[in-house]
Amino acid sequence: MEERRVAFITGGTTGIGRECSLTLAKEGFDIAINCINEPEEYTELKDEVEANGVRCFFTKGDVSKFDDAERMVNEVIEHYGRIDVLLNNAGITRDTLLMRMKKEDFESVINVNLVGTFNMTKHVVPYMMKRRYGRIISMASVVGVGGNAGQANYAASKAGIIGFTKSLAKELGSRNILVNAIAPGYIKTAMTEVLPDKVKEGIKEQIPLRELGEAKDVANLVKFLSSEDSSYITGQVIHVDGGMLM
Ligand code: NAP
Repeated sequence: MEERRVAFITGGTTGIGRECSLTLAKEGFDIAINCINEPEEYTELKDEVEANGVRCFFTKGDVSKFDDAERMVNEVIEHYGRIDVLLNNAGITRDTLLMRMKKEDFESVINVNLVGTFNMTKHVVPYMMKRRYGRIISMASVVGVGGNAGQANYAASKAGIIGFTKSLAKELGSRNILVNAIAPGYIKTAMTEVLPDKVKEGIKEQIPLRELGEAKDVANLVKFLSSEDSSYITGQVIHVDGGMLM
């Protein structure tokens, strides 16, 4: 059997991450998905991924915990023997103005979004260095570039991911490990579903393309960054936002 490349996707069971899991499966990657709940809950997704003739493996854990991250990476390596692409996609929001923001609101968002990205990357990179090949793609946000009232915690976490990405691109380029970040604008998922219709209409007004994005729009970029067509691109933050932030 020809050896397939392996993509490991955190938060890969819902929204953008789910779409990325399915898109990379269509591209012929064996898929490893990090989930928080029991893997048995995701048999439908497993079947959908495997319908593309590739394998699907779930590993349960919290990316914000260093030891969970280490165990999950080891499980994937044990299962597949390699990780070609790491997609740091797991993320949360705890939106509120600074005046009302509790210490826990700030810390939990930083811990999942930024520390989680560090934890996963830290444990995957040694394996990529050994093979002198790797793609690390992390989900930032336009908010990490432009800021947003009511999202100081989230914006700080995403800006942190951008600095992390650029630094690692410089550290790891000579080992043929490419490190990039994606900055989605407003994408239709559970994360944005909670916004009131009036707010959504207001957001559309600020987007030149006049529509919220689809998870597929982000997954298509992940597909490109995971492919050999992007082999001279590293240290970049690529926006998928309908022109919202230029
Ligand atoms: P989503 O559907 O809420 O997906 C987030 C995923 O992260 C879920 O699968 C969630 O698992 C998982 N997760 C949360 N905390 C975790 C933890 N501690 N450990 C492991 N997994 C954890 O949201 P989404 O819209 O697809 O967002 C995906 C990524 O894109 C996030 O990083 C988000 O910040 C970023 N993004 C989204 C938008 C947008 O407009 N939607 C815009 C810019 C950036 P459970 O569902 O089991 O809790």
